[in-house]
Amino acid sequence: MDVMRREIAICTRMLVDADILEYSGHISSRLPSGDAFLIQPVDDVRSNLDPSRLLVVGLDCEVVEGEGKPPSETPIHAEIYKARPDVGAVAHFHHDPTTMFSMVKGRPLLPMKNHASRWADGVPVHFDASHISSVEQGQELVRTLGDSNAALLRGHGEVVIAESIVALFADVVHFVENAKALAQAGLLGEVEPLNGEDLERFRSTFNREKHARKLWAYYSVTAANKGVIPSEWLYE
Ligand SMILES: [Zn+2]
Repeated sequence: MDVMRREIAICTRMLVDADILEYSGHISSRLPSGDAFLIQPVDDVRSNLDPSRLLVVGLDCEVVEGEGKPPSETPIHAEIYKARPDVGAVAHFHHDPTTMFSMVKGRPLLPMKNHASRWADGVPVHFDASHISSVEQGQELVRTLGDSNAALLRGHGEVVIAESIVALFADVVHFVENAKALAQAGLLGEVEPLNGEDLERFRSTFNREKHARKLWAYYSVTAANKGVIPSEWLYE
């Protein structure tokens, strides 16, 4: 089985199992050609996503290969791939405890845990609370995102970007963990976020690729044990 297709299906199913994805939201991965990406059909159930069903979609959001329609918010993915050559994988999801940080005045999503060094410069909040379903809306989101590696969509959800599906999975897990930590720490008292120096010190000894592989191994083997993914997928 094609490795990229399998990784998207595994990532999607594991994020459902982690209560981060549910009946909507989607993961995509840029194909090596650079001008197309894989994404699931709009109505396929995330918890049972079949790698062979993934669509090949061009940067104009037109289906190049596969059966079915891509998600209505596919312009999120296409416009990010157009604007950011460094990006190999995109996640869009609607995780309420994280989205909460787009809803409260004076409460930005601060870096509380060391893995939030990925978002050391802050997490921009996009003004448009509607579905990002046109090229123009996708371009507006890209302007909000700038050089950041994640954005909150006001009253709607999140976008997280990374170089690969394996790295993306780790980033999404840490992004959500950081938001939860901030909400919980705030209940105890005045929060003390990590500062630029703290985060730089962490980054200087951190092996991102090794860490992402470790998370992937833990979550994928656990997912196979629980029947979330077929165990054959671990060895193909
Ligand atoms: Zn959405």
